[in-house]
Amino acid sequence: MSDNILVTRSSMPSLDEYIEEIRPIWESHWLTNMGVKHKQLQAELEEYLGVPHVALYTNGHLALENAIAALNLPEGGEVITTPFTFASTTHAIVRNGLVPVFCDVNDRDYTMDVTKIEDLITDRTVAIVPVHVYGNICDVEEIDRIAKKYGLKVIYDAAHAFAVKYKGASTACFGDASMFSFHATKVFNTIEGGAVCFKDDSWVQLLNDQKNFGIHGPESVCFVGGNAKMNEFQAAMGICNLRHLDEEIAKRKKVVERYRERLSGVEGIKLSAIQENVESNYAYFPVVFDGYKYTRNEIYEMLQEQGITARKYFYPLTNSFECYRNYPTAGTEKTPVAQHLALRVLTLPLYADLSLDDVDRTCDVILGQKD
Ligand SMILES: *Cc1c(COP(=O)(O)O)cnc(C)c1O
Repeated sequence: MSDNILVTRSSMPSLDEYIEEIRPIWESHWLTNMGVKHKQLQAELEEYLGVPHVALYTNGHLALENAIAALNLPEGGEVITTPFTFASTTHAIVRNGLVPVFCDVNDRDYTMDVTKIEDLITDRTVAIVPVHVYGNICDVEEIDRIAKKYGLKVIYDAAHAFAVKYKGASTACFGDASMFSFHATKVFNTIEGGAVCFKDDSWVQLLNDQKNFGIHGPESVCFVGGNAKMNEFQAAMGICNLRHLDEEIAKRKKVVERYRERLSGVEGIKLSAIQENVESNYAYFPVVFDGYKYTRNEIYEMLQEQGITARKYFYPLTNSFECYRNYPTAGTEKTPVAQHLALRVLTLPLYADLSLDDVDRTCDVILGQKD
């Protein structure tokens, strides 16, 4: 009996490398609150991403929530977003007292269908929160044009898109800000963690205060902030993982190439389009079963029986969550392409050290070639 194949596995440095990285923390007894490691990782990421400012957070969700809060949008304002995403995106909007308005996605790369944005704009629309889903890059130029035309703010959920480049530039550069997740399951992890990348210098102090209880100085608390600081152990993990990131992405690329080789051109199996001008991070490998000899759910079960875990990612859509059922803007019928995908997509096992034999085992099951 062969070993189980997990859908993902966290990238980690060697234990020795991590121990060396955290040794100074024992010497200084400085565990959190923007210490040496926090500052170092922040500087390294600004350099790696080529952006003027990075703010680090304890997780990606709070990074997104804080970035949206920093825009200081009017209560009840409408934010155009997509439901084909992780719960976090929609929750971050709603937890800021804003109303999510769901735009459908396109069926090529599953990002926001930019031809449908303008129809959703009302006099209450204040912002757009698009998602670079699976690391696929949104049509940033068209979103920028629409945002400028209607005076809207744009914050990208770039949780999947760390290290992705578009026309040679990092995806961190678009919109008013971009959020990355450094969760254990993401391409680059700090165990848990996240970042906001932005250009506006005035946000440096604002975001800093906001993630530290609104404490501006020892005797000055300027607004109602929360606590979302990245600690020193998370930052140390990030410093180690960043050293190996390019290698890890190169290994993921080999896995993805094997999947493509085995699964492209099969009738009823649709792969995510390869985007022009994009350098991928090979974060996910979504496969859409549309008119294939087995349904998505059958494939999911067949894989499970062989000890292989795939993920219905994303299903269900966030606009069908119980907590949003009573929202007038909810309802999957308003986003038919996203709903079509959500019922048919699986992301296959993918991580840097996944062996090509395991990729073949997975493909054999999908193609009905196992015996
Ligand atoms: C992972 C993820 C988040 C949240 O990030 P955490 O670091 O887990 O809090 C937000 N949006 C998307 C699309 C994600 O995949």
